[in-house]
Amino acid sequence: MMKIGFIGLGMMGNPMAHLLAQTGHTLAVMDLNAATAARFAAEHAGASVAGELKDFGDADIVITMLPDSNAVEAVVLGNAGKPGLLSILKKGATLIDMSSAEPMRSRKLAQTLQDKGLQYLDAPVSGGVKRAVDGTLAIMVGGDAAVLAQCEPVLKTLGKNVTHVGQHGAGHAMKALNNYVSAAGLVATVEALQVGQSFGLDPEIMVAILNSSTGKNNTTENKAKQFMLSGAYNSGFSLALMAKDLGIAMGLGESVGFDMPLGDEVLQIWRDANEALGKGADHTEMYRYFRNRKQ
Ligand code: NAD
Repeated sequence: MMKIGFIGLGMMGNPMAHLLAQTGHTLAVMDLNAATAARFAAEHAGASVAGELKDFGDADIVITMLPDSNAVEAVVLGNAGKPGLLSILKKGATLIDMSSAEPMRSRKLAQTLQDKGLQYLDAPVSGGVKRAVDGTLAIMVGGDAAVLAQCEPVLKTLGKNVTHVGQHGAGHAMKALNNYVSAAGLVATVEALQVGQSFGLDPEIMVAILNSSTGKNNTTENKAKQFMLSGAYNSGFSLALMAKDLGIAMGLGESVGFDMPLGDEVLQIWRDANEALGKGADHTEMYRYFRNRKQ
């Protein structure tokens, strides 16, 4: 059995840590919101709160499930004069960053960790809260195959498809590109639903037709009825995080010198919606945003 640290008990991290707590590994958890971590430990026998990063000193693996690269670097490199995991983890320990972070920064972080005798994998996920709860996330991994082999049993607790996609940063690159495709599909779906309704089509029938036709995508299958037409808007993935992911995808395109004209448009739409809807909006509220901006 291993000693596992888990940092970031948000919409995704909470159900993921819950699954790890069922495995018999020793689990120490941390969140910026101390009450969240305390609640988790109270609900899980075998889990304890890590009050400070130095409590991860004997961990074999530390998993981060944080909003972005800034948050990941804060816990790894240190913040506000406090040391980060880089100077705390024991030699040979592995940091697995499962956040959706920036591939270039992750590559650099991997090198910094390796220089200190530490291992790193970027292992972002896709599938949303529902699949985090089920333990059926798609996990795309960047890093050394040998390190992945060591960590695979732990990752398999969280996801059925664990795919090695390349060296450090490759997982984060893949994740950003996946979310670009997903975000573009969501906007196209929302536009089609608004236009169809203005013409007099029934949106429920539209979704059914799309799902049996070539317009089928993740939004038509898993979001349109469930979170948009229902007005629930509670998928658990914030609009701000999706806008962040699109910024990462566009930055990636720029870094390899590839123009993404559609990507530019899609990013602008998500940034505008984020500004209009404000902090805390669910990404499925893009539907409401388009309905309200109808001419
Ligand atoms: P969230 O905002 O719900 O959770 C983030 C958690 O991290 C919060 O509990 C916050 O308090 C904590 N946190 C932030 N900075 C911290 C720090 N320095 N130290 C300790 N804790 C800190 O976000 P989420 O929806 O769980 O997403 C987490 C990551 O997973 C993001 O990168 C997101 O893009 C990605 N992701 C989310 C989904 C989804 O459906 N929500 C799906 C796939 C990937």
